[in-house]
Amino acid sequence: MNKKTFADWQDKAATLKIEGRAFIDGALSHSRDGKTFVCASPIDGRELARVADCGEADVNAVVAAARRAFDEGSWAGLNPRERKAVLLRWAALMHEHLDELALLETLDMGKPIGDTTMIDIPAAAHCVAWYAEAIDKVGGEVVPADQHLVGLVTREPMGVVAAVVPWNFPLVMAAWKFGPALAAGNSVVLKPSEKSPLTAIRVAQLAHEAGLPPGVFNVVPGGAEPGRLLAAHGDVDCIAFTGSTRTGKLIMQCAAQSNLKRVWLELGGKSPNIVLADCPDLDGAAKAAADAIFFNMGEVCSAGSRLLVHRDIKDVFIEKLLAAARSYAPGHPLDPVVTMGAIVDRVQMDQVLAYIEAGRSEGRLAAGGAQVKKETGGFYIEPTVFEVKPDAKIAREEIFGPVLSVIVFDTVDEAVHIANDTQYGLAAAVWSADVTTAHEIARRLRAGTVWVNCYGEGGGDMNFPFGGYKQSGNGRDKSLHALEKYTELKSTLIRLR
Ligand code: NAD
Repeated sequence: MNKKTFADWQDKAATLKIEGRAFIDGALSHSRDGKTFVCASPIDGRELARVADCGEADVNAVVAAARRAFDEGSWAGLNPRERKAVLLRWAALMHEHLDELALLETLDMGKPIGDTTMIDIPAAAHCVAWYAEAIDKVGGEVVPADQHLVGLVTREPMGVVAAVVPWNFPLVMAAWKFGPALAAGNSVVLKPSEKSPLTAIRVAQLAHEAGLPPGVFNVVPGGAEPGRLLAAHGDVDCIAFTGSTRTGKLIMQCAAQSNLKRVWLELGGKSPNIVLADCPDLDGAAKAAADAIFFNMGEVCSAGSRLLVHRDIKDVFIEKLLAAARSYAPGHPLDPVVTMGAIVDRVQMDQVLAYIEAGRSEGRLAAGGAQVKKETGGFYIEPTVFEVKPDAKIAREEIFGPVLSVIVFDTVDEAVHIANDTQYGLAAAVWSADVTTAHEIARRLRAGTVWVNCYGEGGGDMNFPFGGYKQSGNGRDKSLHALEKYTELKSTLIRLR
């Protein structure tokens, strides 16, 4: 348990040294053309740093460095046991620098310091350690082949992997890519979001300190341009992307028009949380429903943004939900008791407010609905709850903010139909005391993760694959399955006689 007070964190923030350069081929570097962008804090709008705005020359240089490192075998050629030792040192360094990394993440992205110290940074370190621990235990296969043959099936690293990630869990989303990709022996070029580049740069320095050879792990900050250049680059073998469905489609096009690099997409969601009339614990379900949409300011791909409630329990359930929502009053993210921080930037806040405006004309506003703490210069929105019909714009489009659409249903079939009637399929939940009913519904829900009588459980457990059906993406982060994304399968047939 971190014992620091609000004042302690503010003191630390005042003296924090922030690095804004890219990390290419084992060294910090300015962008080749000297361009920078302003990295500001959503807490108060204050400028935190000028960050390298990488362009074509940087992308070409970083891919060349990553390729050279791969071809030389300085990382890929190591015994997996040796890669494991370096990655474990790196994970340990992340723990050693937990306060610094948590502070960077909170200042940069606006999420509560309680979350970055307890969830984000430990989860990223755990992810790296988990794949490190796994990598010297996964072997290949000897297949039953003709007598005159020895048949081997092995997995080999792909080469240069680009990871393009969003801003909502900056370091965790990145670690879900670079953890398995590096463990498998690839070189990685990480392109963090322009809204949250700081922890990526800092962990690259720590990677170097831990012993990752130059060129093996690189960070090129910038906006869409370096992301697009990586997606279109002829010498990138694989691109692993987390972000919006719109950008995911563009990335797939770039890959198709260039070298058919492997494309893995973790995209948006509009996840349904279904509460049946026989829900075994209305208080617990209401609290979980509030957590599902208000944790991380609702900036969660798997947020339970559609709450489907049976008509018989609707009134009592909404009352309990609103009580639970009150524990999410927006506050200063450096205050350890605060559970809801700032929206990542003005653009995102304005988008969320526009959805709230749309909601006012589409349904009944039950709570929230306003920007607050304007005097701080930061971007804060109250937890907001609407009661709407399933076809309302706010019930169909991903908002990525603290806005919940409550939808009432009468039958199980209707609930399942509404739940699946979306372009997305990232997550879903069902609450029922009847295990058969719950399990039957779980089977019918078209989503990569289904929770029964809980929501969001197992997020930090690396054993569960995470990813989407439909336009929520392809492939899975986490678990041993993620190693499959960063390796090619090779058949080797050896003729004995
Ligand atoms: P975004 O698509 O705007 O940006 C994601 C990343 O792509 C950023 O680094 C951005 O700079 C880069 N980018 C933007 N345009 C690009 C282009 N044309 N070519 C290449 N790269 C480009 O998404 P965002 O706003 O950063 O993140 C929010 C989205 O991420 C939401 O839709 C959310 O659901 C999704 N998300 C999904 C998961 C998941 O695991 N499925 C997890 C977290 C977030």
